Amino acid sequence: MNRSLTLGADVGGTYVKYALGDGDEPGRWTGEVPTDPASPAITFGRLAARVAELLPPDAGIGAAGLACAGIVDVRTGRLGRTPNLPGWEGADLAGLMGIAFPGAAIALANDVNAALAGEARFGAGRNGSDLVMLALGTGVGGAVMIEGRLLAGHRFGAGEIGHTILDVAGPPCNCGNRGCLEAYAGSRGLLADARRRAAAPDCSPGLRALVAERGDELTTRNLADLATASDSAAAALFREAGERLGQAVGNLLNVLDPDRVIIGGGVAAAGELLLGPCRETAARIVLCEAARSTPIVPAQLGSAAAAFGAAHLAAIHLAAEAPRERS
Ligand SMILES: [Zn+2]
Repeated sequence: MNRSLTLGADVGGTYVKYALGDGDEPGRWTGEVPTDPASPAITFGRLAARVAELLPPDAGIGAAGLACAGIVDVRTGRLGRTPNLPGWEGADLAGLMGIAFPGAAIALANDVNAALAGEARFGAGRNGSDLVMLALGTGVGGAVMIEGRLLAGHRFGAGEIGHTILDVAGPPCNCGNRGCLEAYAGSRGLLADARRRAAAPDCSPGLRALVAERGDELTTRNLADLATASDSAAAALFREAGERLGQAVGNLLNVLDPDRVIIGGGVAAAGELLLGPCRETAARIVLCEAARSTPIVPAQLGSAAAAFGAAHLAAIHLAAEAPRERS
């Protein structure tokens, strides 16, 4: 059997996105299978069945990478706390992937780390070795790469940049603290801020009408469209969120001095509405003069980043393992 194919999979609460291809080029087949919220074994079985349908008759998986939200212990292969899939907590992910894909080299990563690995290899981080990524989704995830290596941390808890506290008296965060970056720049925080602003007497009629009209269906995309149409209250909402993002990025630039900072996730679709104020604020915070112009750029791979990154990490793992096995 020709085991030249590499699989990357990104486990979400509803679907597992996969990317499959030759060696370190995982884009030949992409798609998704449903996640079983109670059973990683059933989920990986579905994934293996889909992969078997796609593979040419004599081909096999040489390396399989898995990205998952939460605390991923890359040493033992076990999953720790994972808020979106509580039924998976404690699971031996590496062992179960090994059963679903026998003979393949298995790599595991936290989902934002995998997304950064994907952007570094195929997207906005190409040719960079010191990178920081922020993923602005419902919450805010973070990942750090130093000299080409992802920073996992001593207890696999590194990269929680979303819980950098920017104002101890700020809005409440899902983690129980106040004023975390996530409370300003995650969609949950932004939508709460939009509703607060809409209730204020001096709010623009446009924002007030949008919040009333969309109700629970309000999205950050709706707000970005309104801000682009020159609504003053919606523009202020993104400007202030962008400034908070810039505070966090400026702090990171002072600590890490990376090549560049990559901003991804659904909220980042607001583009320059966020990134413009973010760059201005970050530049004011950075002490090292040369680092003030560090590029702060949008991610390029969208929601495929973590599956591509997981495949890349698996390909690296296989390459590192192969010489040992031959000796
Ligand atoms: Zn927090």
